[in-house]
Parts: sequence; C-alpha cells; structure tokens
Amino acid sequence: MNKRRVVILGSTGSIGTSALKVARDIPERMEVVGLAAHSSYKALAAQAMEFGVKQVCLFDSTHAAELRRLLPSDTRLLTGLDGLCELATMEAADMVLVSIIGTAGLKPTLEAIESGKDLAIASKEILVMAGEVVMSRAAAKGIQVLPVDSEHNAIFQCLQGHHGCPEEVSRLILTASGGPFRQWPKEKLADVTLEQALKHPTWQMGRKITIDSATLFNKGLEMIEARWLFGIPMERVDVIVHPQSIVHSLVEYRDGSMLAQLSSSDMCFPIQYAVTWPDRTPNSLQRLDLAKLASLHFEAPRWDDFPALGLARRAGLTGGTMPAMFNAANEVAVQAFIEGRIPFPGIWQTVEKVLSAASPRDYQGLLSVILEDDAWAREEAARVIGSR
Ligand code: MG
Repeated sequence: MNKRRVVILGSTGSIGTSALKVARDIPERMEVVGLAAHSSYKALAAQAMEFGVKQVCLFDSTHAAELRRLLPSDTRLLTGLDGLCELATMEAADMVLVSIIGTAGLKPTLEAIESGKDLAIASKEILVMAGEVVMSRAAAKGIQVLPVDSEHNAIFQCLQGHHGCPEEVSRLILTASGGPFRQWPKEKLADVTLEQALKHPTWQMGRKITIDSATLFNKGLEMIEARWLFGIPMERVDVIVHPQSIVHSLVEYRDGSMLAQLSSSDMCFPIQYAVTWPDRTPNSLQRLDLAKLASLHFEAPRWDDFPALGLARRAGLTGGTMPAMFNAANEVAVQAFIEGRIPFPGIWQTVEKVLSAASPRDYQGLLSVILEDDAWAREEAARVIGSR
C-alpha cells in the first residue's frame, strides 16, 4: 500500500481542513508535503507546524513577514501565483489537491499536470472553465484526475470498471440537496435575505458555494464539470433533488441498472477515496445506519423556478468559452447579492442577460482566450447589475 505525498492548495478552506482531517486519520496512506493558503497566515503556520511541512505558500503576501516569524527557519515560504506553481510542481509530491476558489488554481493545475502529478480537484472553476484542456492534457500525460466534489467522486466510484466506456452510460445523475428554498413558492424567492441564503440544510461550506447551493448554480456548475470529467455529452447529465445528501450521485447504465454511492455527509469520504484510489482504507468516519435512516427521499428539480440548471445546460451545450462566462457572470452576481446590491433572483437574471449577450468562442486549448471571455463576462455582469 503506497503512501501518497500530497500538496494541498487551499489548505485553510473547508476542503483543505477536511483533507488534513483525512491526513490525521490515515497517516499511513497520506503525507502532507506542501500547503498553500490565500491569506489565513496564522492557520497556515499552525498546519505547517502540526504536519511538519517544510514548503508553504501564502498567496496574498500582505502578511508574509508575520508568517515568516511564525515558521521554523528551515521552512520555505513562497508567495503569489508563482509560489502556487512551485508547490504544484515540487519534486517531493506525487499528488496535488486543488481546492482554491476562483481562477487562481488554473495555472498551478496545468503545471502540476506537466510535471506528472496526479490531481485531486475540488475547485469547480477549473473544470468548468478549462475542463477540455485539463482532461486532454492529463490524458496525454497519463495522469489521473480524481474528483473531490462529493457528487463527482460518487460518479467516479460508480464508474469503476467502466471508465472510458461512455457508450455504456445512459445518464449521469447528480443529486442536489435543493438548498434552503427547495419548497419555497416562486414569488417568495424575491425576498430571500443573505442570512437565509447562507443557511445550508446539510453541508457546512464557504459563503460563495453556500449561495450557489441556494440558487442551484452550484449544481449547474457541477453538470458542466461532470461533462468534462467523465466525457459524457451534456444531454446525458441529469439532476435529481435529494434533500438528505446521503446518495451522493448515481450512474444509469444502458441496461437500465443504476449504481449509487452512499455515505454520511462528510467531505472526508470523497477526499480519502481520491487519495487512496483505487484502494479502500479503513478509517474512523461515521457509518450510515440505513435502518435508522428508514427512507430516502427524491424529487424532480424545479427547472423553471431555479433557472440556474437550464442556464448551465445551455452553457454546456454551447461549449467553448460559454461555461467560463456562465461561471464568471455568476461570481459577479453572487458578490452583488452578498453586498445587497441585487435581490436573490437578480443572480440568475444577471447570468441570463450575460449569456444572451455573449459571443462564445472555441478556445482551442488557449487559456488566454478563456480568460479574455471570462473578463468580458465579468464586465458585462457588472454593467447589467449597474443598470438595474
Ligand atoms: Mg457538490
């Protein structure tokens, strides 16, 4: 049983701290060799000390001097995007866990692939914006891309033995909790407050992703991710609402059989599977008690009342830079909602307007084209919000 030497990009966020729990739980299988955080330097210092990590990166260098004083003198401190790239390609690592929010993870991810590291990807933006490039370069290098998001990790598990056989799969079915407004009438959605949107029924996560779960944009981004991760056409990526978050997703095969992956709602499950794949390793995580659970509930998503799903399918079917623009417009709109500048439905109304005005391009592997259209969509979203 080999031990994986893992670099964690985004170690102080919710995925990063769960990954460190996994490292504590199965130290015989996971060693942390590099850590990067955005700006939480005290937490980063504490993590580096606990795990004896000798290479760390603070993306925002504002508090680099303070961090330097907290670290042992033989610990190397890097900063900025160059620092992330250096960690992502470091000799001592064989896997990079990318859990950075936003586009900052894109360059380090591609460099990690070039240097032959396996990837565990938790950042949605990377696969949504550049899924085609990431998957084709990874395939060319013979590198495994292991999804960490609970839904994609579930599908990855259900596809074991059938990877690379897209013709056998009739549907990938992502489960969605439905968010806190699952049962709200459409009219009431206009009055949703920030506080209400930040209360997720089953998962504890960061602000942006919690709001994305409430609008179902999170599921929309996951539909696009799934399309690239598993090479399944967008038309065959489907969603079912399952408020308990016990079934993490399913695969329907062409013979009508469905396979599902179940576990309690703890990100340590998918993170551990990504790290130990293809093996299964004992751990201290909480087991499901199906008898106690008694029933599993499913319902159809409200496609019309939560337009994020339809917008995602449209962006995924269009392809090219459209998914990047879908993601960028949503980011700007979510920020505007957090700042109280637009109401809750203003998030999807903004994205809808941006997509309608967009001229998506085929980027042919060029990140610069993706980033240009991403920037255009951000400006256009800001303009749409300003003119409300
Ligand atoms: Mg998810």
